[in-house]
Amino acid sequence: MSAYVGKYAEELIKNAKYIATPGKGILAADESTGTIGKRFQAINVENVASNRQAYRELLFTAPDVQPYLSGAILFEETLYQTTAAGKPFVDVLREGGTLPGIKVDKGVVELAGTDGETTTQGFDGLGERCAEYYKAGARFAKWRAVLKIGPNEPSELSIQQNAQGLARYAILCQENGLVPIVEPEILVDGSHSIEKSADVTERVLAAVYKALNDQHVLLEGTLLKPNMVTPGSDSPKVPNEKIAEYTVRALQRTVPAAVPGVVFLSGGQSEEEATLNLNAMNKLDTKKPWTLTFSYGRALQQSTLKAWSGKKENIPAAQAALLVRCKANSEATLGIYKG
Ligand code: 13P
Repeated sequence: MSAYVGKYAEELIKNAKYIATPGKGILAADESTGTIGKRFQAINVENVASNRQAYRELLFTAPDVQPYLSGAILFEETLYQTTAAGKPFVDVLREGGTLPGIKVDKGVVELAGTDGETTTQGFDGLGERCAEYYKAGARFAKWRAVLKIGPNEPSELSIQQNAQGLARYAILCQENGLVPIVEPEILVDGSHSIEKSADVTERVLAAVYKALNDQHVLLEGTLLKPNMVTPGSDSPKVPNEKIAEYTVRALQRTVPAAVPGVVFLSGGQSEEEATLNLNAMNKLDTKKPWTLTFSYGRALQQSTLKAWSGKKENIPAAQAALLVRCKANSEATLGIYKG
């Protein structure tokens, strides 16, 4: 059951390790056109290509931010966009030491016969697309599988389908030179306990790593993007230290030490919560063979979007807000964030 070692093996290992550099993390700016529309609606900005370009330019050219980033995930449209002055975003990122990544999934569809469980689409032409994205400068990819907690969920069907999908996606990426970020997101929605979240997270991650091994994925050239282990969104909150303890324990039980980094999603947590939880994990005195860092979307962009509100004159304030979050999360990867 040894790993597939294709022509990109060395490069995959190098890039995955680089993304997992302590002190750095990922800016997840890969909102699809539909999702960024929702974010823009909240600040009264029209969802047109020129506004999407202006917003992403603001993010990628923000002064002093890039030292805190090792990667930025883009949506396909953004991968081929340039600054207003005509410089490809990919070059802006690479020159600042930020590897460009690309969202390659095409969203989720319902699994027949389940209560709203889903599987992720996007396999048609995936290998060819990965090769094109590599040519365009991308060096890693993201594919999001979504699972939910309910009375009978996640079902075995959903766990298996999503694990197989993630593994198939991962090997197609590696065959074409992209480091796959493996993202099995268990949604926070519900009134379940933190214990239930831990149990489900462990079952899902165990299935994911079995599938990755079965498909000969080179684990050293991958990253994991999991949810943190928290109580459901309708349950009482618990201290950051408890979230840290349960999350790291779930990872210890399921994620091989060969994986260089775990890059958490923020999953609807507030900016400060997401930073405090990551900091608490990195403060824990326990076995952690992987870097624990961030790949936040909302928890890096909320205050930036609000400060910008679509106005040119607000760009410096929006970039300053992004810097605050990136610096805070960088400190959290080292367990030295003071709040
Ligand atoms: P959030 O951090 O907003 O959950 O988004 C991260 C992401 O890329 C989800 O797929």
